[in-house]
Amino acid sequence: MSGVLDLVRPDLRDFGGYVSARREGGRGRVWLNANESPWRSDVDMDVGRDAAPVGLNRYPEPQPPALIERLAAFYGVGRERLAATRGSDEGIDLLVRALCRAGEDAVLVAPPTFGMYAVAARVQNAPLRTVPLVREGLHWRVDAEAVVAAARHEGARLVFLCSPGNPTGETVPLATVARIAGALGGQAVVAVDEAYGEYAPPERSALALLDAHPNLVVLRTLSKAHALAGARVGVVLGDPALVRVLRNISAPYPLPAPSVALALQALDTLPLASTRSRVAQVVHERARLAAALAAMPEVVAVHPSDANFLLVRFADADAALAALARAGVVVRDMRHLPDLGDALRISIGAPAENDAVIAALAPAAGAA
Ligand SMILES: *Cc1c(COP(=O)(O)O)cnc(C)c1O
Repeated sequence: MSGVLDLVRPDLRDFGGYVSARREGGRGRVWLNANESPWRSDVDMDVGRDAAPVGLNRYPEPQPPALIERLAAFYGVGRERLAATRGSDEGIDLLVRALCRAGEDAVLVAPPTFGMYAVAARVQNAPLRTVPLVREGLHWRVDAEAVVAAARHEGARLVFLCSPGNPTGETVPLATVARIAGALGGQAVVAVDEAYGEYAPPERSALALLDAHPNLVVLRTLSKAHALAGARVGVVLGDPALVRVLRNISAPYPLPAPSVALALQALDTLPLASTRSRVAQVVHERARLAAALAAMPEVVAVHPSDANFLLVRFADADAALAALARAGVVVRDMRHLPDLGDALRISIGAPAENDAVIAALAPAAGAA
């Protein structure tokens, strides 16, 4: 089989990217190659001086070796299989730009799904093709055969599968991912976005399929379960040749040094233990909130969720939104998406926040 590099835009296959000051090497003793200030700023961070002994007056490493090493160990892959990005939103954007010639190569998505795939396709002027999820009762199924056929027929170079899905909460079975990636080997890269992977059973992660499918990539992020949305750190995991292309076309210094220092700390033993216990708490609260909502007469259905939110259908979504708003609770209106004309997406909060949701909706349900 041909390599995944054959799926990359021909004009980018051997593009070396910007040769940044840090790439030229920090081997010397006196750094006068990047027009930096020789002095640390008065406001230089106190955070992470051990992890980042170099001050903020210096440009950061494009792919900080310590962070790459830690992330690779955390996700159980080799360092060459991982690119660190400015959130997985940047990973999505880099994939579209690396793979899709403007105006020609399509991006395929399975709605209802995360909106950034369409945004990235739009910015690159890549045609967007859709193969809707098939709803079966409360479940959503990716129609693998339809995805494969459409990708071939419509010239898709990139297929996004969101798992667990936003906003569905449903995990795509590994057999489905393997079927699609296997069938599209010479046609498209299949990107499984696991932004909510920590909230799902670990055996459902597509990371286990990476070795078998060079055209498969997995997106992960520190934004959700690791509670670092403000730091903007994500990863793309995949074939080393594709990872190299993504690194080469990314911004010269995508990861701010404070974010790198914080990400390194977040992957230490103690913060990781906190993260795991908070994930367990979210999973517990998810079940509690789902049960409370499902018991309300106004609630038509609560979709099962492997993520940190619930997709909830209401007899009168306007009334539910208004009741929540009166209590100061903001949730995400999903009614603009296909097949979700009565649905709101409610993030799982801290226990008291979930109580606020229940209290806000209970009187409305009682009055109905
Ligand atoms: C939140 C979210 C992201 C964005 O993650 P960042 O790492 O913060 O950019 C990616 N994919 C999905 C499905 C999301 O819901």
